Amino acid sequence: MDPGPDSVLIVGAKLFDGHRFLPPGCVLVLEGRVAALDSRLTAPAGVPVVDARGGTVLPGLIDAHVHVFPGALQSALRSGVTTELDMFADPALVGALVQQASCDPSAADLRSAGIGATAPGGHPTRLIAQGLLSPFPTVAGPAQAEAFVAARVAEGSDFLKVILEDGTTTGHAVPTLTADTVEALVAAAHAQDLLVVAHTLTQAHALLAVGAGVDGLAHLFFDEPPSAQFLDAAVRRNVFVVPTLTSLAARSGHSRGRALAEDPHLGSALDPRQRASLTLDFPVGPGARADLAHAMSAVAQLQRNGLRLLAGTDAPSPGTAHGASLHDELHLLVLAGLSPPAALAAATSAPAAAFGLTDRGGIAPGMRADLVLVQGDPEHDITGTRAIEQVWRAGHPASRSPTAE
Ligand SMILES: [Zn+2]
Repeated sequence: MDPGPDSVLIVGAKLFDGHRFLPPGCVLVLEGRVAALDSRLTAPAGVPVVDARGGTVLPGLIDAHVHVFPGALQSALRSGVTTELDMFADPALVGALVQQASCDPSAADLRSAGIGATAPGGHPTRLIAQGLLSPFPTVAGPAQAEAFVAARVAEGSDFLKVILEDGTTTGHAVPTLTADTVEALVAAAHAQDLLVVAHTLTQAHALLAVGAGVDGLAHLFFDEPPSAQFLDAAVRRNVFVVPTLTSLAARSGHSRGRALAEDPHLGSALDPRQRASLTLDFPVGPGARADLAHAMSAVAQLQRNGLRLLAGTDAPSPGTAHGASLHDELHLLVLAGLSPPAALAAATSAPAAAFGLTDRGGIAPGMRADLVLVQGDPEHDITGTRAIEQVWRAGHPASRSPTAE
């Protein structure tokens, strides 16, 4: 019997199944899906065998906060990110990229909010003048919420993004959504079975969003340390949080992008656009209230309180890049107090569960064979995720060279 394409037997690697590390064993992939896991397996006729002794196989990584552009999904996949969750992009671009990704084995898979809900003149409308976004509709008040959400559903948005941003952490004041508008948007989205994620960078906005019933926060706030009131509300509402520490670092003058661009493993897989965005400084205005230390200390508290944490980068915001920055986010999550398995769960099983992606985020029979083979053992050194040997997208081996597209 011909096993078909996109089949492989990976032998001898330690495994991370989305939750915990398992002793070295075998993973059999048939026609793009995981077929079996066992301590010993034999390859069916015609299935190639990869000797992965000394390495570790991870589920394909999921970046829970990006903004896509042409080429972004290829940059992501080269660095082991097999699924990207876009938090604001032109729906025509998203449609084209999804179409392209479905038949391009060098591109990561994509889900997107499409156009996010923001106030007239609110963030990120200034990107229109810079030519980075096409003009898009905004939401002036609660009466417009239902029609706004219906339009996003019609465009194919996978979830709704609401934007609460007044410039406190950037030093550039902008108008923002009111509480009653956020409540109306959440109600309209939930009536359509859409998940709602909120852009909030201050604790006041995070509290407002959680109170309005959003499902998740697309950033951790960093204007002040988390209060007992916030922790109580977040636990009661069971929200998930995408800390985006690597972006918060760049936003508070501690950009890690230049160092990441020099990483011996990740550096060679970077294309010029990734390199450029890693070395950009975030444009912070005077009077900004932003301290990475608040977010770093909050991560451990959120985890102790049982809140779900999802790894995300906000790439390509200045100082970050698709793919590469997720490895830095994993490192920062560990520096903030997560164990390596908890950090890796934040980039695999946790985002898959939060966004209803039931076919990925783990390694189990029947799941999509999005897999990453790394040298060594990231259970003991999380930076080991960067030493990528091979990425498989639905069982298909992906190219790792930035020029081979
Ligand atoms: Zn963002």
